[in-house]
Amino acid sequence: MEDERGKFQGSALYSSSSQIALRKVSDQPLRSDDELLELLRQRVRQAVAYRKTLAIAPQSNAYRVVFSEGDALPGLIADRYNDVLSYQALTQAMDRADIKQVLVGEMMSLLAEAGVTRAVERCDARIRELEALPPRPDTMLLGGDQASTIYTLNGVRFHYEAVGGQKTGAFLDQRENYATAAAYAHGKSRALDVFCYQGGFALHLAPRCSTVTAVDSSRPALEVAEKNEGLNRVENSSAREIEWIEANAFDLLKDYSAAGQQYDIIVLDPPAFAKSKRVLETAARGYKELNLRAIKMLRPGGILVSCSCSYHLSESDFLAILSSASADAQRNLRLLEQRTQSRDHPIILGIPETKYLKCIVLQVT
Ligand code: SAH
Repeated sequence: MEDERGKFQGSALYSSSSQIALRKVSDQPLRSDDELLELLRQRVRQAVAYRKTLAIAPQSNAYRVVFSEGDALPGLIADRYNDVLSYQALTQAMDRADIKQVLVGEMMSLLAEAGVTRAVERCDARIRELEALPPRPDTMLLGGDQASTIYTLNGVRFHYEAVGGQKTGAFLDQRENYATAAAYAHGKSRALDVFCYQGGFALHLAPRCSTVTAVDSSRPALEVAEKNEGLNRVENSSAREIEWIEANAFDLLKDYSAAGQQYDIIVLDPPAFAKSKRVLETAARGYKELNLRAIKMLRPGGILVSCSCSYHLSESDFLAILSSASADAQRNLRLLEQRTQSRDHPIILGIPETKYLKCIVLQVT
């Protein structure tokens, strides 16, 4: 890689079709494939060593092992779900057979002592199309022909299914925020988890709340959520069941606030509304409406855990939206925590794209 004047800038992985043609991997020249492979192996070792310092186990055995640019391995996402390693190539380079083989091999040997014995490759059809890679189904790479397992996050159990059946996979970036949300619940709390997917927040809140209602528009996601609830049910316990509701979150919040429903904790974790800069304004309206309705339904002292995973919406813009929602609702909000993605999704200073998740904890005064 050279600048316009021909001065050496570093070595990069190349994609012939992506909008991002070059992704830098080193300041140094790499003279052969062997040198490249050795560098990538070293980066994997560093990534795994970093996760060990986070002391994620034994409470959780699922986390992101490699977070692309966050681990100086651009184009690679690797997750561990208990005994299964999931490999996802986001670029042509990381899809190359020799690179994949070396990286999977390295991760498997480093994670063997943690009990990882199987590897699966997950393929995102849209990403493969952008990279001009042929479509491919998710496939087992090592350890048999199926990858279903049970993993834990903060001691809460979840189903994982990578190949065939009902696909699952967690939003691992919320692991630390699940624990945070649960810590605000106290015995009699009534909780509402909006955009619950397979139950991440709801299942963490349930043991500490008197009622939990969870909403998502996806029936398949709710079916997995119910199964996950079953995994965590304690024999003979008096714990109430979670109420899973299939609905459009916007409609449901409107109906519930009109009906005067009140909660002690509300979690909002919508999909990224701002997938590009172009749609920021529409996205902002969506975030505002959701948060406004939620704030109106909180009891005094109630907690709002409000998330946005839109990279293009900055934290200060998001806070401004929350502030304007609180003004419209005529409620004062205390800013308790400005959180982000879990630390197994490292944020690198100087690479702003590595920070995307906002998780703001507010309290109605
Ligand atoms: N909180 C979840 C992740 C949420 S992902 C967790 O921690 O695991 C976003 C979810 O929003 C998806 O499950 C998707 O099905 C759901 N969704 C998208 N649009 C929706 C809408 N208009 N109403 C309700 N749910 C919606």
